[in-house]
Amino acid sequence: MDILTDVHTHTAFSPDGQDDIDTMLARAKELRLAWWGIAEHFDYDYLTDNIPFDDGAAQFTDPEAYFPAARALQQSEKEVHILAGAELGFTRNRAVVPLYRNLIARYRPDFIVNSVHTQGTQDYYYRTPFRGKDKKTAYGEYLALVRESLDADYPYDIVGHIGYPARYAPYADKSMDGADFIGALDDILTTIIARGKILEVNTSAAGADAPFLPFPPIVRRYFALGGREISIASDAHGARRLADKRRETAAILKEIGFAFVTVPCRGEKIYVEL
Ligand SMILES: [Zn+2]
Ligand SMILES: [Zn+2]
Repeated sequence: MDILTDVHTHTAFSPDGQDDIDTMLARAKELRLAWWGIAEHFDYDYLTDNIPFDDGAAQFTDPEAYFPAARALQQSEKEVHILAGAELGFTRNRAVVPLYRNLIARYRPDFIVNSVHTQGTQDYYYRTPFRGKDKKTAYGEYLALVRESLDADYPYDIVGHIGYPARYAPYADKSMDGADFIGALDDILTTIIARGKILEVNTSAAGADAPFLPFPPIVRRYFALGGREISIASDAHGARRLADKRRETAAILKEIGFAFVTVPCRGEKIYVEL
């Protein structure tokens, strides 16, 4: 039987999360998840870069509410290994570094997802970073920032959803694996391998016309370059999408050649058969 992992999900502690942690856990048990990783949003790039929130409602995960609640559940829960993690939004603005360092020192997340959501003062989610730019330019800017994010001055375990802009891109062909991007991608993938980081395979990819992100040819390239450390994440923001497309994704990954997923937990790595 498959050992199911879903490492990078959001509960209602995240401003855009839909279901509370107990509802999510009940669903995780129903699905018989062995490892359930919560990675609430800590988008302090929004803070340092003065990025406006939708409807003007500035909202952040309250770590003082989230971590104690997740830790308590972690202690009492016997069936599911719960990981209390964090997703940190990268920015090249150095003002964010002490904010993340303080968060990490104070709450010691079980794992950290390092994600690029924004470019300058715009989140790809709002489609504004694409304005007036062809795909080569917009994706090129994004990949340059992803490469910089790998040098983040705070610890992280997982490189989150490479290809994130493709979820929202206005281009007919949303793929990011073409000849224009091979050089940048190889640089990113070899750096992930050299640093011992984990490449996230993120199944929240409906808008990108892909089964998951990064696009499968990029994951295939990672394997060819020697990359073996991957995680699988639904990036669910509610119980309904927990472990979404987990089995189809595992089948594609096995076909590429992967034999296990890596679950990061407090600086250790746990290898779970795919
Ligand atoms: Zn994200
Ligand atoms: Zn996320």
